[in-house]
Amino acid sequence: MSADTTIDVETGPGRGVCLTHDRAGTIAHIEPADRPAELPREIVTLGLADLQVNGFAGVDFNDPALTPESLDRALAAMAATGCLVCLPTLISAKADRLEACFRALERAARASPLARLMVPGYHLEGPFLSPLEGYRGCHPRDAMVPADIRVFDRLNRAAGGRIRLLTLAAEVKGAIALIRHARGRGATVALGHTAADDAEVHAAAEAGARLSTHLGNGAPRELPRKENVILAQLAEDRLMASFIADGLHVPPPALRVYARAKGFGRTILVTDATAAAAAGPGDYTLGPVAIRSTGEGPPCLPGTAQLAGSALTLDRAVNNAAAWLDIGFIEAVRMARDLPLGLLDMPALPAPGQPAGLVHWRRGNGDYRVVGWRLGPFASGGP
Ligand SMILES: [Zn+2]
Repeated sequence: MSADTTIDVETGPGRGVCLTHDRAGTIAHIEPADRPAELPREIVTLGLADLQVNGFAGVDFNDPALTPESLDRALAAMAATGCLVCLPTLISAKADRLEACFRALERAARASPLARLMVPGYHLEGPFLSPLEGYRGCHPRDAMVPADIRVFDRLNRAAGGRIRLLTLAAEVKGAIALIRHARGRGATVALGHTAADDAEVHAAAEAGARLSTHLGNGAPRELPRKENVILAQLAEDRLMASFIADGLHVPPPALRVYARAKGFGRTILVTDATAAAAAGPGDYTLGPVAIRSTGEGPPCLPGTAQLAGSALTLDRAVNNAAAWLDIGFIEAVRMARDLPLGLLDMPALPAPGQPAGLVHWRRGNGDYRVVGWRLGPFASGGP
């Protein structure tokens, strides 16, 4: 009797793959397969991918005291939400602190069994961002510095050369040179927390920037209606855009408008999750920043309405996007897997010899809920 397991996996509307893995969860065989156009109640998809995760399940990735055990625990909780690939994200801080955080993260990621499979690298969001109120969001103003290749290289060294995504403001001094440099070091470059005008957004895209980070956030509540940084980025086709689809960072009608303007093929779902995600109400940290979660809505700076990351999970974001954009669930999965992986130049389909990363979903009350996952030899609840 064979110890192999064969599973039908949904990869697109009416499309899928037939995947066979061995007892250790290594893919033995994978081939395209037709799937029913109407999704059944129980489905299996490939694992979701999140480009922006600051922390999870009580663990702050922006902590120089991060341990392999705490990282592993956070990743196991993340896997239970269907997310099997993530870029732990560090927000703006002084270079010394960021360097210490990257060292801790890299050490933890090398020692954590789950991180070795789930973490292809890191996202550095800052400190080359706009210091202006509204644009900087919850990032500490005194950490903001002009774009500096030496600072980037120093941080990338501490990160083991694994900064895969860099978010910067297009208008800060030195931004264009750093975009070109970071691309040459294998990092994808995104714009965010930026007060750039049309010409600056255009120049950044020309230099190789490929994403707008959490478009619609990291911007003031009020903007000039004819020309503003959101319109400038929506109009730039070379930029994909990520969105925090929790309904509060971007209200559903705004998400519809943004995603249609950008095109569903350029729309990526991220969580921007903090330690407050999958952790319940309480006080947490986001690097140097204290944040508070009431359990309802995103965490905020204590005593203010300033959002500070989210408590969103990616399975929830996919269901929200399917409902609010009026698209099929598998099309929404594409925004949380194929498109983010493509942005990182990673293939959407795995190959024989690689660990199987699978999520088992069951529909109930109109939503698909994660009931199990497998990542190579690690699994919970199947498939
Ligand atoms: Zn941000």
